[in-house]
Amino acid sequence: MESEQTLRELICELGRRMYDKNLVSATDGNLSVKLDEDRYLITPSGVSKGFMQPDDIVVANGAGQKVSGSGKVSSEFFTHLACYEERPEIHAVVHAHPPKAVGCTLAGYPLTEYLLPEVVFAVGGIPVTDYATPGTIEGAGVIRALIRECDAVLLDRHGAVTIGLSVLDAYYKMEKIEHAAETIITACTLGTPKSLTDAQFERILVAREAYGAVGKLYPNSSFRADA
Ligand SMILES: [Zn+2]
Repeated sequence: MESEQTLRELICELGRRMYDKNLVSATDGNLSVKLDEDRYLITPSGVSKGFMQPDDIVVANGAGQKVSGSGKVSSEFFTHLACYEERPEIHAVVHAHPPKAVGCTLAGYPLTEYLLPEVVFAVGGIPVTDYATPGTIEGAGVIRALIRECDAVLLDRHGAVTIGLSVLDAYYKMEKIEHAAETIITACTLGTPKSLTDAQFERILVAREAYGAVGKLYPNSSFRADA
């Protein structure tokens, strides 16, 4: 694993990318990395993810309390802790407000369909949690069941959470969610997107295994092209 300083720099770089790519606005979003059994790097509350410095990143424990750092622990950290508790193998959690993907939750449009092979390869279908008040402990409650089963979820009317073996892995999944939503919305303006067939889906699973892809795929799809 990288040094703590390298991880701090990486979190800042990925925060800048989230901000530049419009995955967050103002001071939204947060990133965390597990350092050891009871220490996590977490982005501070109330600071734009586009303008963070390595020293701004706070260290917190598994109870959600600050261990060191001058900033305040992100109010969404309890949602991150729920992810670490449910998936002990992961090392990072990313939360953002990708507008097109969140727009799909507002419109009730499902991203659980198997539409784009590379998204299926990386994250499978992308389910939506029940509604929770942003910035409260409610977020930890609604995410548990779904994050146990997959690496990328949408929070109803709020944002998205992705997890990974590294912070880069989790960040890439976040980019993929928004890119998928943009592609699907484009398809919807032109017609009705068609799902992958069962056979196409099965071949992606085989390729995934051969590649040694990590992470869980959300398996459900409510209606399939050839179902
Ligand atoms: Zn949020």
